[in-house]
Amino acid sequence: EGLIVKALSGYYYVKDDEALPGEASVQCRARGVFRIKGKSPLVGDRVTYALTENGEGTVTEIHPRSTELIRPQVANVNLAVLVFSVKEPDLSLNLLDKFLVHIEHEGLDALICLTKMDLIDEDDTAAREAVENAKALYTSIGYEVLETSSPQGVGADQLRERLQGEISVFSGQSGVGKSSLLNAMFPKLDLLTSEISLRLGRGRHTTRHVELVELGNGGYIADTPGFSQLDFLELGVEELGSCFREFAELSEGCKFRGCTHLHEPGCKVREALEAGEVAESRYKHYAAFYQEMKDKKRRY
Ligand code: GDP
Ligand code: ZN
Repeated sequence: EGLIVKALSGYYYVKDDEALPGEASVQCRARGVFRIKGKSPLVGDRVTYALTENGEGTVTEIHPRSTELIRPQVANVNLAVLVFSVKEPDLSLNLLDKFLVHIEHEGLDALICLTKMDLIDEDDTAAREAVENAKALYTSIGYEVLETSSPQGVGADQLRERLQGEISVFSGQSGVGKSSLLNAMFPKLDLLTSEISLRLGRGRHTTRHVELVELGNGGYIADTPGFSQLDFLELGVEELGSCFREFAELSEGCKFRGCTHLHEPGCKVREALEAGEVAESRYKHYAAFYQEMKDKKRRY
């Protein structure tokens, strides 16, 4: 049994569960029956395979997937690392909430990495407060938040530990420090990380040849950033509320089923907003995304 770490030209590269870190993967073909059933193996699939005479293998069984991303097309990703710089570029909670909507929709865990903490001056209390508030807000909703500074190596150990045993995607605008984080965490993988770094840092991506990079601690990361396309085309507008984690439970108490939380009477989400229990920024973004989705639906 093993994990497909790469797919290329009809071959699947399977890293055996018993193999040591760094040990080569086995080049496999897939059994023809997968094509008939319309279910081909994906990078990230846990599979059973049989060795053939020439040292190659045949994938004989695809184990059930926990998740299945489309961009990049990877199975069994369970963690999205959302990389946001606190400066250069400034922290955008709007963009962060947009990422979180997509992550909730895919059913992944999220780790929010606030990078470039060293760029906030000691006496810049406004900037410091903004970061503290964001951290408190997202922690209270139930997300993990980690402050990092790559030149100082701050947060690198915690992040490396968190990636252990996970298949992760890194997400975030270009220039926020994704590559630097990787290099801070895995200096020994220098060559490899500079390669992934290049791909992660690039603005636009061809996602056809996604590959999982072994981190050496049982963790793997996709060499292509996740959620590089943040339109809402794959999401139904009625699903949006459930992608705001703190709204989901509240909405069970709303007077109307299918409450949009925008104008209906007896809305528990708006009640919580007025009581200060739901953050204004979150509600504002929800309403804006809702409108954006409606507008898109009209256009297509
Ligand atoms: P990516 O495009 O997301 O991979 O971003 P990079 O890792 O390439 O970083 C973009 C720029 O920000 C580079 O000039 C880095 O040196 C710088 N940078 C990244 N992380 C940090 C950090 O924690 N602190 C500071 N001061 N600069 C950083
Ligand atoms: Zn409501």
